[in-house]
Amino acid sequence: MGRVICIGLDGGTFDLIEPWMEAGYLPALREIAEQGVSARLRSVILPFTPQAWTSFMTGVNPGIHGIFGFKEMRKGDYGFQFVNNRSIRVKTLPRLLDELKKRVISVNIPMTYPPDPLNGVIVAGMDAPGVESNFVYPLEMRERILEISPGYEVHLHIGAGYLDSDRKRRAGIRGLLDMVENRERVVLHLLKEHPWDFFAVNFAATDQVQHHFWRYLGGDGEFNDAILSVYRRVDAAVGRIRDRLDDQTSLIVMSDHGAGPASEWVFFIDEWLREQGYLHFASRSPAKRLLSGTVRLGLNALSRKLPSSTKDRLMRRFPGLRTRSQGFIRRSLIDWSRTRVFSGEHPATLRINLRSREPHGIVNPGTEERQLRDRLISDLAELTIPTTGERLVEGVYPKEALYHGPYRDRAPDLMVLTAGFGHQIRGGPYPAGLGYDQTICRKNPHEFFVNGVHRLHGLFMAAGPHVVSRADPDGPFSIMDLCPTVFFMMGLDVPLGLDGRVLEGIFDKDHLRENPVKYRDYDLTRTGEAREKSYDRMEDAQKIETVLRGLGYLD
Ligand SMILES: [Zn+2]
Repeated sequence: MGRVICIGLDGGTFDLIEPWMEAGYLPALREIAEQGVSARLRSVILPFTPQAWTSFMTGVNPGIHGIFGFKEMRKGDYGFQFVNNRSIRVKTLPRLLDELKKRVISVNIPMTYPPDPLNGVIVAGMDAPGVESNFVYPLEMRERILEISPGYEVHLHIGAGYLDSDRKRRAGIRGLLDMVENRERVVLHLLKEHPWDFFAVNFAATDQVQHHFWRYLGGDGEFNDAILSVYRRVDAAVGRIRDRLDDQTSLIVMSDHGAGPASEWVFFIDEWLREQGYLHFASRSPAKRLLSGTVRLGLNALSRKLPSSTKDRLMRRFPGLRTRSQGFIRRSLIDWSRTRVFSGEHPATLRINLRSREPHGIVNPGTEERQLRDRLISDLAELTIPTTGERLVEGVYPKEALYHGPYRDRAPDLMVLTAGFGHQIRGGPYPAGLGYDQTICRKNPHEFFVNGVHRLHGLFMAAGPHVVSRADPDGPFSIMDLCPTVFFMMGLDVPLGLDGRVLEGIFDKDHLRENPVKYRDYDLTRTGEAREKSYDRMEDAQKIETVLRGLGYLD
């Protein structure tokens, strides 16, 4: 039965798209919305790329697939590593389809590096360390792709401090538009030249432009159309892709999370923990303090003063130093023997320094742990923005409230969501020399911060031979619903045991009556492969770090 193509608009949100579709700026998306269905799509908490896309590709929650953020804790030393495809604990959609003898093409979907060897083509996404890496399967396709699209980029690096002049902003937008163009060229080639049953592509430029240009929206300056220009370019790509599909192919357009404006506030969570007596920095060894301050100060000075060519060179060298120094800072700046709580893999998460789990744990599992968590939850709820008195935090969720499954234990203990997802959270001590002295502080304008941030709800649209035409089905749907829905669209038995469900409401009744959803007990476990080490080479991990820092995902 039917083929399915899934087009990702990373970070895409109806908040922007709806008015733009109405105004006629996005004709291809508008046509899909009119012919098919659209609904909001709920991401996972925290709504970040790795866990969101993995939930899309597996149909299960992070407690089962094991991905909770860009980084995961290493056992035994409070350090962490970046995750990638190797870190996913269950079989993903491409693998399951491959086992069913379906041909898969996947372009730029995050968490697909290293690419799976399967009967199809995988062009890995943002967890791939650039086009020099083996980011394509089969490997001989790599040269072909770079031939068709010589400027192909896995992820454009417009990072920290890179957009601090109009000239650089113009170049940034041009780079993003080129990136879409190059991606489109590869997709159109693959659509034409390679057989497929399931095709997935993610356009990441929408997410990137939102991170860097949200602040200009609605203004009257040169860059107020920056985000729109990228959406228009992606819309044109969607239109050209759709032109090449036959009428038996189902189409899904989705985003892994939404987006919205960042506030002017930053919350220094480890400093707050210190103030509350939960965390102790190590006896302020002046040398260590100086080192951390110098590293940060040096970086900030760097991104402000140097020309970008020099910066480029230095940034390429610098990540190594930063990676090492960050691990060093974390381990040496915290007095673990007196620390009960610390910020986790992402600063919006907290970890309890639990005895028997952490290398120098001091909190007893059970009652003491529970009481500590309860106090943290109520203390965080009390925090307010100094000028307005509004609550800083919208919710603090223990991992048990969000996740279930065999890998839940790997999750941070508490997830902290700021109000409207708008305030940023930062870990570690106050960076030296930037004037920060309050746990909830206005951002220093000389520092790099993204101005657009993620929101929980992304978007979903579908059209196809059996999809009804109805503007507003009973959403929001869950990002975990897409995997089983793709199985159903392809006429396949749906895997038993997924958290997501087939979105039956989007299909016409006759089709459902004749083709009721059938389930099968596939073996979903990924045996013997999920490896403890995600990247073999340190420099690959460093490239990933540079990309993530540029997107504001790391502090
Ligand atoms: Zn994303």
